[in-house]
Amino acid sequence: MKRLSDMTTFRLGGPCPEVHDCAEPDTCIAVLRDLHARSLSCVFLGGGSNVLASDEGIDLPVVRYVSETVKANRDGSMVQVTGSSWLDDTVRTTVAWGLDGLVMCSGIPGTVGGAIAGNAGAFGQQIGDRLVEVTVCDRAGRVSSRTPSDLDLGYRSSNLIERGEVVLTATLGLTPADSGTLAARREEILAFRRDRHPDWRNVPTAGSFFKNIEPTSNAERRQAAGWYLEKAGALTLREGGARTFLRHANIIIAEPPCTALEVWTLAHRMALAVRDQFGIALQREVRLIGHFPDAATWSTGAGP
Ligand SMILES: Cc1cc2nc3c(=O)[nH]c(=O)nc-3n(C[C@H](O)[C@H](O)[C@H](O)COP(=O)(O)OP(=O)(O)OC[C@H]3O[C@@H](n4cnc5c(N)ncnc54)[C@H](O)[C@@H]3O)c2cc1C
Repeated sequence: MKRLSDMTTFRLGGPCPEVHDCAEPDTCIAVLRDLHARSLSCVFLGGGSNVLASDEGIDLPVVRYVSETVKANRDGSMVQVTGSSWLDDTVRTTVAWGLDGLVMCSGIPGTVGGAIAGNAGAFGQQIGDRLVEVTVCDRAGRVSSRTPSDLDLGYRSSNLIERGEVVLTATLGLTPADSGTLAARREEILAFRRDRHPDWRNVPTAGSFFKNIEPTSNAERRQAAGWYLEKAGALTLREGGARTFLRHANIIIAEPPCTALEVWTLAHRMALAVRDQFGIALQREVRLIGHFPDAATWSTGAGP
């Protein structure tokens, strides 16, 4: 029996009955068609770096679309890449090609497909800004093309997950630039991340648990959830092995032994602390897999 803890960067989560690993679009389509023919739905994963999986596990098969190598090609400044390609390796490739537009994603774990599904980004930019087209596959195995306007891209969101569509390949429109300058910027970003974030290869985490706070008027900027969490005392909260990362109050780390329920309970306490002190309902960024108590009230990502 496979365990979700082996497929997620939180390293939490119980068993699942079957796992299908695929790296190529055609394999992914074949797996989804086969599951559909068996009337089975599935949980779809890339790098598992933005999910919290329940301790009880799930009764559904898991499909993992991850490739060990970057599968990308360029036509001028247009880059086509598989959704299974690791995002940070894709950034490194585009930097070496002297193409700007993805460097802000340096160091973000996970796949290109997972990044597009959640419109991942940093420093005020997101991957959706560079998207030209995606090829998607629905859960019945039907393949089609989508433009960015079809995806309803927002801050850390798209409609792909709700529609049950997976990103097979993406075309990104990048900008020619000096590769040395891009490489230097990439190193700066990686150093910034090493300083502010836990190293997910050694520390169980899924990065920021909550989304930053949307401005209430056009004149305002998005405000860091971490600031409110720190002011509300989140850095001192602990639930079993789950605690906040001392240099970033919005990041939960799961120190073994730790359960997903402990992470979930801590996240609730953090959100309640911000609600009680500031009257703000934090929105969850991390996606849930499996059952969590009271998750219905958080099912759309809304706070408690
Ligand atoms: C230390 C750390 C730092 C992080 N920093 C950032 C950051 O700066 N900015 C940021 O935005 N995020 C950040 N994250 C969160 C995470 O890395 C991103 O959200 C990442 O893009 C998730 O990709 P993934 O492949 O791991 O997705 P997964 O966690 O595997 O999946 C997340 C969701 O996307 C869906 N999905 C996965 N692959 C596909 C696909 N091919 N097609 C359609 N849907 C798919 C899944 O079904 C699931 O609903 C960080 C995480 C960690 C651990």
